[in-house]
Amino acid sequence: MTDQVVFAGICKRFGTFSAVRDLNLGIKEGEFLTLLGPSGSGKTTSLRMLAGLEAATSGDILLAGRRVTDEVPEKRNIGLVFQNYALFPHMTVAQNVAFPLQMRRRKRPDIAREVDRVLEMTQLGPYKDRYPRQLSGGQQQRVALARAFVFDPSVLLMDEPLGALDRNLRDLMRLELKSLQERIGATVMYVTHDQDEALALSDRIGVMHQGVLQQTAPPGEIYERPVNSFVARFLGQSVCLPAKRLERGKRTVLSVEGLDGRILVDAENDTCPDATGDFMIRPERFALAAERPDTADANAIRCKVETAVYLGAQVEVHLRAGAGARVQIAVPAANAGDLAAGSGHWLTFRPSDGLYLKGV
Ligand code: ATP
Repeated sequence: MTDQVVFAGICKRFGTFSAVRDLNLGIKEGEFLTLLGPSGSGKTTSLRMLAGLEAATSGDILLAGRRVTDEVPEKRNIGLVFQNYALFPHMTVAQNVAFPLQMRRRKRPDIAREVDRVLEMTQLGPYKDRYPRQLSGGQQQRVALARAFVFDPSVLLMDEPLGALDRNLRDLMRLELKSLQERIGATVMYVTHDQDEALALSDRIGVMHQGVLQQTAPPGEIYERPVNSFVARFLGQSVCLPAKRLERGKRTVLSVEGLDGRILVDAENDTCPDATGDFMIRPERFALAAERPDTADANAIRCKVETAVYLGAQVEVHLRAGAGARVQIAVPAANAGDLAAGSGHWLTFRPSDGLYLKGV
């Protein structure tokens, strides 16, 4: 299947500042792709170039195989949803949703039918004659959504669409958004800096940093196999420490800052092109043991408890390794054992659980 959206070598400069650098990305039909990254990483600029609201400095954008790089927004047939809804305050819900169809000069009976269909899908039927100011934030956002896909756009673009809602409503709308997208089979490009949102919604996530797309992969792969330490740190909790590669073979042998002894990671977990990089492991991959495990295979680091915080199901344990590194892990409360401050333990993990990554 050909990609519905293609960014081919897209660059965007504002004066001498590069906001987006050599973006190459394809989005498949019906796919939900999220650009995730910190503020200023180039997410919105990328989305705006696809919408035609910003001109690319170089490179090409294709929609359904057609080059649209120089086309005006109206010709691209793209639906847009922003954080601030951008509804027309003097129009009712039905009139707001009808607007894109009127712009496209659809016949009146067709407009009425389509508006009703979309209002029903977004559960806005009972509110069709209300004005935006008479709706809650969540309802307003649903109107913005209905208006964005009523004309059957080839792609839906959403920029932090849930950003203005409070936490509870956000979680609820997230579920609604996902099920709506699946029902209408829309191709979606979504922008957020909220990692939970990205994990919950996306088929694939593209992580951006300083205008450069670092990695594009399904959520599980981004979490388990980040390509560098920026991606590892940005998505989820991690222990990330500077490291040096001492040996390479079936296992990579590392010297890790703040951890005493040699640390082993499996060869396929060593993706760092350089002799210095970062050692990374997810906190849930650690175990605590009273005795040093007697297999030569496991990594074991002597450490002391600094504090242990009881959180109900889990205990958050702050540890200090003999060589100085601070490591925070979470262990199930049921088998946490004695975690008194100052008590000594062995922090263990398997060579398949640690990664040696390019430091970014
Ligand atoms: P946020 O999450 O804060 O929206 P973002 O990742 O979407 O961030 P962009 O809005 O794409 O980031 O901005 C990328 C960079 O380009 C920023 O440093 C921003 O200041 C800069 N930038 C964006 N628009 C312009 C403009 N019109 N003129 C100059 N610089 C701009």
